[in-house]
Order: sequence, then structure tokens, then C-alpha cells
Amino acid sequence: MAAIATLDTLPAELLDRCAQRAAGYDRENRFFQEDWDELKAAGFLTINVPKDLGGRGFSIGQTARELQKLARRAPATALATNMHLYWTGIAAEMRRLGDNSLEWMLREAAQGEVFAAGHSETGNDLPVFLSTSQAERVDGGYRITGHKMFGSLTPVWTRLGVHAMDVNDPAGPQIIHAFVPRNTPGYTIKETWDTLGMRATRSDDTIFDGLVVPDRYVARKVPAGQADLFVLCLFAVALSGLSAVYLGVAHRAAELAVETAKRRTSLALSRSMAYHPEVQHEIAEMFMRLEAMDAQLDRLCSDWESNVDHGGNWPLKIVATKANVVEGAKEVVDRAMTISGGSGMFKTSELERLYRDVRAGGFHPANALLAHEIVGKIALGIDLGEQPRWG
Ligand SMILES: Cc1cc2nc3c(=O)[nH]c(=O)nc-3n(C[C@H](O)[C@H](O)[C@H](O)COP(=O)(O)OP(=O)(O)OC[C@H]3O[C@@H](n4cnc5c(N)ncnc54)[C@H](O)[C@@H]3O)c2cc1C
Repeated sequence: MAAIATLDTLPAELLDRCAQRAAGYDRENRFFQEDWDELKAAGFLTINVPKDLGGRGFSIGQTARELQKLARRAPATALATNMHLYWTGIAAEMRRLGDNSLEWMLREAAQGEVFAAGHSETGNDLPVFLSTSQAERVDGGYRITGHKMFGSLTPVWTRLGVHAMDVNDPAGPQIIHAFVPRNTPGYTIKETWDTLGMRATRSDDTIFDGLVVPDRYVARKVPAGQADLFVLCLFAVALSGLSAVYLGVAHRAAELAVETAKRRTSLALSRSMAYHPEVQHEIAEMFMRLEAMDAQLDRLCSDWESNVDHGGNWPLKIVATKANVVEGAKEVVDRAMTISGGSGMFKTSELERLYRDVRAGGFHPANALLAHEIVGKIALGIDLGEQPRWG
């Protein structure tokens, strides 16, 4: 098995094994433990930790390409693994941009700690900017009370990244970003995860009942409704990874559609369905869309890596990429279903699983409503905090 010192790309045999297990995890609604163990042993969980801290130093573009490869074979495995990689990616990007405040996370990740994301809350479509969870200043830390949902990697995290609002800070309401070590008393996990797609992510609920996070695990304090370098890096790294996952799903669906078109026959055709003009049309539409999705994600990552100064347009660039890639992925998978015909409906079909998995893409932040609000306001020169939002 490839070791951390040599991992330049995910080995084909490892990807094959993940692909073979994906249908079983989905059917049994079970966490991808065997994939996780192999990915960890191969050094995949530290690919974006800088080399001098024991990782491979992958850029966001390199990380996105690896996630895409993994998602082609095992979408849920890739999606949940991105929740860890986006935290290490944020810490690495902040360090690259001159802010070392999260270097401790990179050191902990190199020692095997697993980070997960506890942002999602019922009735809060502005995760990170606002919170229904409460943070209260106490001696040596913050007391956190709240209910988080959609927590991918629930069975394996050792540090859960959460945010909560401190409304009593003299400087005004603050969003506290903190990491909860698994052995901290004061939380319970509620197994809620039984969903349409991305089932192997085991994204269960976590309820905080006055849990105290010590100051050393408080990563950031940001005024409610505002963004800083931490929040910008969070959006850039998390959403480029998410986009890569759904792009991988779309590429796999296109691959399956091509195979099917060459295999399917019709009594009315002397050759395979690949010679049906409308099948060619559908395939062309899929590949045209994929070309645009590939290009947009590549461009986002390369602009980020080369520090292009998009200024206040960065949020527009990031959420537009995620929205275009996810909506494009749904369209590509739908077209693949058209080409596959009825066989795509059967539980034995990989496409049936991809069809369900790809539906999850729209729910991740920024969801379709928020993406349009962000892009529309920036394009119109309207402040993002303008009412009816958090102003
Ligand atoms: C596959 C996947 C993985 C994700 N992983 C993460 C992650 O690791 N960390 C993270 O912070 N966010 C994660 N997200 C969450 C995402 O970021 C959104 O916050 C989430 O999709 C909910 O947003 P919403 O605004 O649509 O929720 P809302 O519509 O405001 O709330 C969701 C609704 O679902 C209801 N609900 C909850 N459980 C059940 C149940 N068992 N049965 C019926 N209804 C229920 C809630 O009561 C609530 O009304 C993930 C999302 C997906 C789709």
C-alpha cells in the first residue's frame, strides 16, 4: 500500500476497492469504514498538510483532482472525506497567505486527528455567518449549547469544528469557531441519518448541552454576519472540494452513458444505440456541459492558487462555481438516465445510486437560493448584509 511519503495520487487498486464497496455501504446505510481505513493508511488525510509539517503539500487544485477521482468511484466516501480535508485545507491556505493561527490543526492532522464540520443547523441557511447555537464566555473557554445536524464522519471524527453565537460580547454578537475534542463531556450523538443519497457519509446529529471548549481549541472569533480571511478560505476550500465531488459523479455518469449507448440495441437500428441521432445529441449535451464544469473549477482553483485579486468578487466566483457544477452534475446524470433507459431504475444499477447521490449537491451551502442571493447582490453592487438579511 502506498505510504504517506510516496502518495502522489490515489492508487488505482485502492480506488477499485472503494468502488466495489460503495453499493454495499449505500444499501446497508453504513459508514464507509473500510474505505476510511485504507485512505488513512495511504496518507490521503494529510495530502494538503504542508510538506514541512509532515503532509504532501497539495494545493486546492491538486486536492480537488484527487477528490474528483475518488468521487467517480465512491461519491459518499469522497464527500465525507472532503469534510476533513477542507479543514486541513483552510489551515494550510491561511498559513500560505501568512496567517499561522491554525497551524496547530495541521500538526494535529499529521498526528492522525480527524476533523469534521458541525455547521448545519435547522432553520439557518446562513451557516458560519449566523448561528442558532449559543456560545457563552466562561473561565478558560466557551460554553456551547445547540443542535447540529448533517454531521458527516460522525463515527470517526476526533475534532468537531463547530460555530456558535456569543450575543453578550461587548463588541457585539460574535461567531465563535471552535473544535470539540471527542472526549469532551457534554454532547450526545443522535443517529438520524437515513436519506435519499450520500448514505455512507453517516451525517448524524450532534447535540451540545453546555459543553465547554477550552480556549486552545477556539480557532476564530468573527463578528456575526461578517467574513474575514478564515471565512473566505472556508468558502474557497470547502466549495472547491464539494464541486470536485459532484464533478466526479457527473464524469462517472457520462462514462456509464457512453458504455450503455454502445451496448443497447434497438430492432429499428442495424447497429447499437450509439448510432441513434438523439443519443448522440444527448451525449454531446453531456460532454459540452462537462467541458464547462471542468474549466470553471480549474479556473477557480488556479486563480486562488496564484492569488488573483478578485477582491469583493471572490464570493461570487466561489458560489457560482459550486452552483454551476452541482446543477450541471444533476443535468448530466439525468441525461445519462435517459440514455440508460429502464435499466437505470434497478437497484443493481450504479447509475441509480449516482442519480440519488447527485441530488444531495444542491443542499450544501451555498444552496440554490443563497447562491443566487450572493451572486445577484455582488453583481448589482448591493451589500451582502442588506435587508432582508442580517443587516
Ligand atoms: C450529504 C450531505 C452531507 C453534509 N455534511 C455536512 C457536514 O459534514 N457538516 C455540516 O455542517 N453540514 C453538512 N451538510 C449540511 C448542509 O450544509 C446543509 O446545512 C443541510 O443540507 C441543511 O440545510 P437546509 O438549509 O436545507 O436545512 P433546513 O431545511 O433548515 O433544515 C433541515 C430540516 O430537516 C429536518 N430533519 C432533520 N433530521 C430529520 C429526520 N431524521 N427526518 C425528517 N426530517 C429531518 C430538520 O428538522 C429541518 O427541518 C451536508 C449536507 C448533505 C446533503
